[in-house]
Parts: sequence; C-alpha cells; structure tokens
Amino acid sequence: MEFIHQNLYWIVPLALALGFLAAAFIWKRLPPPEVSSPGQEIPPPEQPDAETVPAVPAPAAPPALPPSPATEPEPSAPEREEPATPDYDGGLKRTRGIFARLRSILAGQPAIGPSTWDDLEELLITADIGVKTTEALISQVRAKKPKDPDAVRQELRVAILKILETVEHADPVQTGLKPRVVMIAGVNGVGKTTTIGKIAHHYRKAGLSLMLGAADTFRAAAVDQLDVWCQRTGAEIVRGRENADPSGVAYESVEQAKKRGMDVLIVDTAGRLHTATNLMEELKKVKRVIGKAMEGAPHEVWLVVDGTTGQNAISQVREFHQALALTGLIVTKLDGTSKGGALISIVNEFRLPVRYIGVGERLADLTPFDPGRFVSEIFREGE
Ligand code: GDP
Repeated sequence: MEFIHQNLYWIVPLALALGFLAAAFIWKRLPPPEVSSPGQEIPPPEQPDAETVPAVPAPAAPPALPPSPATEPEPSAPEREEPATPDYDGGLKRTRGIFARLRSILAGQPAIGPSTWDDLEELLITADIGVKTTEALISQVRAKKPKDPDAVRQELRVAILKILETVEHADPVQTGLKPRVVMIAGVNGVGKTTTIGKIAHHYRKAGLSLMLGAADTFRAAAVDQLDVWCQRTGAEIVRGRENADPSGVAYESVEQAKKRGMDVLIVDTAGRLHTATNLMEELKKVKRVIGKAMEGAPHEVWLVVDGTTGQNAISQVREFHQALALTGLIVTKLDGTSKGGALISIVNEFRLPVRYIGVGERLADLTPFDPGRFVSEIFREGE
C-alpha cells in the first residue's frame, strides 16, 4: 500500500493510458454507425469514373477505357420519360402554316395570272426559300400551265419534291468500317452539342457502339454537356484539357476508337476559336489529322445549321463546304420556325444530303430526313 502511495505520480498516468488504449480497441471492433435518416439515401460506395479522360496527346500510356456495353444500356430516369419518336407533326407546324396560306391566297384569285405568280413568289420568299430557288420553282410550276389554284398548289408540291429528291439523303450507317468516323462542324449556337447527343442516342438505339471525340476544346461547358449525353446514351468519350490542340484530341479519339473496335466515332469540332487562328484553317487541319490517324477518314463531314436562320444558314453551308467538302447536313430547330423553306434552297443550291433534321430539344427529336414526308407535312391541310 505504501509502495502505491509513494509511486502514485507514475501509476495513475499509466492506468489512464492503459484504460484509453482498451477503450480505443473496443471502439474499433464495434459496427459502423447507421448514417441514413428518413428520406435520406445512403450514398453508394464510390465508383471509378465511367469515362476515362486521357490527357491529350497521350500516345505512350493510352488510357484504359471501360468495356463497350454490348447491349443498349439501361436508360437513366430522365431518358425513360422521353418519348421514343420525334415530334415530326408538331415540329413542322410553323412551316406548315406558311404553306397553308397558299390555298387562301390562291382562292382569292379570279384566274391564274401575273398576280398569282407575284403572290406565290412573295409567299415562297417569306418561307425563306430564297430568290434563286423561288424563281426556279415558279418557272417549273408555270411551265405546267396549271388551270386553277389547286393545280398550282399540286405543281408546287411536285416541284419542291423534285428538288429534294435529287439527292440521296439517307445516312449510310452500315459500311463495315470500324470505326466509321463522322466529323461534325457548325458555328456556336446552331444546336451542334444537342444534335451530337441526339445522334449518339439514335446510333446507340440502333445497337452501334459509339465514341465521341470532344475536339471543341474551347468550350468546357459544351464538353461537359457531351459527357452527360455520353453517360445517358452509353457512349464513350475522349476529351482533352481545356484549350488543348483540337487536332490532338481528334487524333487520339481515332486511335482510341480503333483500339476499342467502335462502330462509330463522332468528332465534335469548334464553332469559334479564341485564338487568332482562322477557324476554317483549324478545321481543315483537324480533318487532315483524322485522315492521318485512319486512312480514308473522316468518312462523313456534316455541318449542323440552324433552320431558323434561313439565308444565314446558306452562307454557312457555302463557307464550310468550300473548306471541308461536306458530305451532309443536319438542319436543326425546324420546330421553331415558319421558315423551314431554307432547307429546300440549301438542297437546291448545294445538292448536299440532309442526313437528319432536328424538330425539338429532346434527345428523341432528331429524325432522318425524308423528302416525301417533309413535303406532305408542310402541305398538310387543316391546321
Ligand atoms: P451549340 O452552341 O451549337 O452547341 O448549341 P446547343 O446544342 O448548345 O443548342 C443551343 C440551343 O438550341 C439549346 O437551347 C438547345 O436546346 C436548342 N436546340 C438544339 N436543337 C434544337 C431543335 O431541334 N429544336 C429546338 N427547338 N431547339 C433546339
């Protein structure tokens, strides 16, 4: 007892320390505390990122991308809410409005004469068909010598369809190439990012494996948006650092798509540069570099144009076609315009296929362009 009293100064701290260690030992062996509370989900364990983002260029250590989903991935909740088909009807309602006026304009004419052609010309120009194509259409209709308003309308319909059918519009998806490389161009704001998401959705629904090369490295927000589309559609993405060399990203995406045996690679490109470099020169370079990574690529070069901008869209087609030798177009926002006629003059002037049209903002609102259907929609009566 005396010994304890004399040595209290070290026995007490030792006992406390031993007690603390024992408590810590027991605590570690207890089960973890429940963190959920009513209405609050327990977060799942952290998963590795679905898309590996390689630093571009990274030829020495190519990133390990996740395996390609063999089947259509389970759609995310918002996608499940989306209808599967585009709203073609609603989408072309406004353009239809212009052509619906045709009947009332013609009905007011006592006989077919010079004023008929003046009124028709005005109507077609209002629908943004453009002077050149309007003149071509009117001369074709006049040549048929229609006797009454119904015949004028019918001949106009035939003449428009004839223009649109001079070109094979269908997207030649299955060509046995792995990957089939589609380069997409378009100035900012035309709906390029949304359209790429819609195409990804369309191709994935067709059971094709798809990779996206996000070579518009100047718009971080647009790249993030593409990332989201990829997650939603089960496509893969190769993206570079912000402001990275677009050609480097394009090259790397072709390499990755080849390595991964992708059916399709879509390469997004810049619509505006933040440097002094000329946009067309930069895009030509991207195209050349894609060709270096894979002989014969890109197999398609599509320009996205905004259907509401009418004759502006025509000058964009001219400029991009000159630089890139386009193989197709996608005309967006046809739901938001009464000027869907620009599409007719684009086909008339450039003889370029319209691969797809955009008729709304949802993923499903993209549809292959079908001239017969387009013409019947815009000439449909009663609405
Ligand atoms: P980007 O700058 O060319 O990439 O354009 P975005 O893809 O960001 O689209 C610009 C805006 O146009 C967005 O609000 C889109 O939702 C909208 N948009 C794109 N395509 C269509 C379409 O077919 N119809 C309608 N109504 N809006 C569209």
